[in-house]
Amino acid sequence: MDQAATEEEKRIRRVLEEHRSRFVDYHELKTRRSGNQVFAELHLSVDEALTVGEAHELTDHLEEELQAKLPEVTLTIHVEPTEADEVPE
Ligand SMILES: [Zn+2]
Ligand SMILES: [Zn+2]
Repeated sequence: MDQAATEEEKRIRRVLEEHRSRFVDYHELKTRRSGNQVFAELHLSVDEALTVGEAHELTDHLEEELQAKLPEVTLTIHVEPTEADEVPE
């Protein structure tokens, strides 16, 4: 049975907070545990002035850092511009 990974979620939030100056906001953090693996995803709002390359560099950095700290977690980051409208769930 899949279940949310509360502890991993807390640690993901901590890593994100350490990089708070490099993005505008994050939201929709979701985790799903499957066996020994945890799959996480989130939306990252970045400054509109950021180039695609810069945004990619940032997400790569976050994904790699998380991979190093939490090897069991696979994180997928969806980058969106600051002004993107959220579709309510
Ligand atoms: Zn979003
Ligand atoms: Zn870092």
